[in-house]
Amino acid sequence: MQVMQRWLAHMLWPVSCPICGAVAELACDCCLRSLFRPQLSRCLWCGELAPCKVHKGDRARIRSGAVYEGVMKDLILMLKYARYEAVGFRMGEALGKTLTRPEADVLVPVPLHLRSPRRYNQAEAIARGLESAWDIEVWNAARWAEDVPSRAGMGAAERLSLSSAAFAFDGDVAGLRVAFVDDVCTTGATLSRLARAAQNHGAEVVGAFTAAHIPPIY
Ligand SMILES: [Zn+2]
Ligand SMILES: [Zn+2]
Repeated sequence: MQVMQRWLAHMLWPVSCPICGAVAELACDCCLRSLFRPQLSRCLWCGELAPCKVHKGDRARIRSGAVYEGVMKDLILMLKYARYEAVGFRMGEALGKTLTRPEADVLVPVPLHLRSPRRYNQAEAIARGLESAWDIEVWNAARWAEDVPSRAGMGAAERLSLSSAAFAFDGDVAGLRVAFVDDVCTTGATLSRLARAAQNHGAEVVGAFTAAHIPPIY
């Protein structure tokens, strides 16, 4: 876009790319694309680097597009706390161009906690972008069944103690190939519990996708 056009657009729609500052861009495609590259995948069932020793025969992985640090961390915090929902969609689109499309029937976002004050689900915002990139439908099929405290203040042991019964499904996921979506993967425990719950409901779990991850320490 020409500079004059950018300025005209900026007068009408005063936003700028939070990464490079270009006006009239919510977040530039090239900026977003430059933030993503495929990370080492993790086993969806235990969170260890894949292939793990325990779940050798299973191909369900957690795939992330970036490390949770720097600009990526700022973007995700904006998405979560600054009502920058449209950034989530753009992130999802860029993530979808970075990672290989799964053979899935539906993308299921990790649901918001029951008492979350947020107006929208940041995982769903990212999933909508993936839906656009991959042409796989988003389905908000999962919800928290119990009033489980927010993960934010939890230690690893507490996170792991979350049971698959913590999730319920609105609608029948039986027989569907399901992939999960979240903003950040920390230990993988929430995704693992959600995946087990879906499996208990008869779904075929094909994997999980997150914009960023905190790499395991070895
Ligand atoms: Zn930019
Ligand atoms: Zn494993």
